[in-house]
Amino acid sequence: MPETSTLEVTPVVAIPPHLVGQIQSKLAYVDEAIAAAQVAESGDRITLTLRSAGNAAEIEAKVQRVVQEMAQGSIAPRVEILEDHLARPVSYDADPLTELLARREVYEESTGIFTFGPLMSRLIEYFEGRFLQLAAHFEAQPYRFPTLMSAKFLDRVDYFKAFPHSLTFATHLREDLDIINEFAEKAKYEGHGLNSPAEFFSQIQALLSPAVCYHLYFSLADHPLPNGQLIATAVGNCFRYESNNLTSLERLWNFTMREVIFVGSKDFVLEKREQSRLFMQKIFEELGLAYQVETANDPFFVGEFRKQAAFQNAFQLKYEIRARLPFKDSTLAIGSYNYHQDFFGRHLDITLPDGKPIHTGCTAFGLERVAYAFLAQHGFDPARWPAAVREALP
Ligand code: ATP
Ligand code: ZN
Repeated sequence: MPETSTLEVTPVVAIPPHLVGQIQSKLAYVDEAIAAAQVAESGDRITLTLRSAGNAAEIEAKVQRVVQEMAQGSIAPRVEILEDHLARPVSYDADPLTELLARREVYEESTGIFTFGPLMSRLIEYFEGRFLQLAAHFEAQPYRFPTLMSAKFLDRVDYFKAFPHSLTFATHLREDLDIINEFAEKAKYEGHGLNSPAEFFSQIQALLSPAVCYHLYFSLADHPLPNGQLIATAVGNCFRYESNNLTSLERLWNFTMREVIFVGSKDFVLEKREQSRLFMQKIFEELGLAYQVETANDPFFVGEFRKQAAFQNAFQLKYEIRARLPFKDSTLAIGSYNYHQDFFGRHLDITLPDGKPIHTGCTAFGLERVAYAFLAQHGFDPARWPAAVREALP
């Protein structure tokens, strides 16, 4: 075990309960010396585990900046619960990861990068099929999107301001014979990564996609939308670098999302979002899922957090589907119903027939998390699974 030390910090501003989790997850990005961070429930103490002694005074000052920017003057959001099915009966109470690892059903290739065996794959395929029923209900058009996403377009939608911490960049060796030869001869995985110098690598043109629906909006940019409305569906690999928060199957660096995407007028998008929720309510009941749907916000980075989160909450732009994890008496977001107003229409110049910017929204499901939450609630014995799932799987 490498040596670690502990640093206790008393926050300059008491951390209100609604920010305890949000601030704790941001502390991972404060300094490379931080191996783990814990914010006390009471909000008056932060415990950091440092990889080396580090510069404690400097780290503490950075931590205080995060606390100040996120907590000072923050008003608790009014959380509205749209559905509460948390009391739905479940039949398992252990962490399924233990059993999944024991059965070699999941394998952690690298931090946050998992491969899945037949059981997880079949469950994911089955759940995805149920989400495709939602897509079929709306006669959504199928799309296929690349795993890489354009840096130019991400800039146009201000993504770098909102979520810089979780980006994953794609690069390649520069077109230079000497560099390529030197890389070929000397590249080695040493210590904590590849030993090649940063100047060997190209400027960034592409990133690994952080979301699926953005690709659709990019493809519609700088044109009026034919017919003024569109419903699409696609599945894709998504990447969000979650640093020290990548500790279990709950948070992956690379995960997959199935989305149903709505583009059109405000009323059209809001109506489809609500219809999605009602349609899925019946499906989740058949799946025997214990969950609730509540208003939420995206994990914006420190400087943008207070304003953006308050905005999302005030206008109810995000509803999260949170499944119960009985083994730890908490919940995990397995999907969301999102409304972006005319944000993408304005930034990408996509217009309605009347010349106004289009509105967009999406219903997004995190496939690995759905399977994980199902196993957390119903375990590994198919005889105890809800009939719909038991009968569908071989
Ligand atoms: P928006 O339209 O606001 O961009 P989105 O389409 O990106 O939203 P999110 O709500 O951000 O959707 O994510 C959708 C789902 O993806 C989450 O509810 C969750 O199930 C899954 N997800 C998100 N991050 C991770 C992660 N790091 N690991 C595993 N699953 C994740
Ligand atoms: Zn989306």
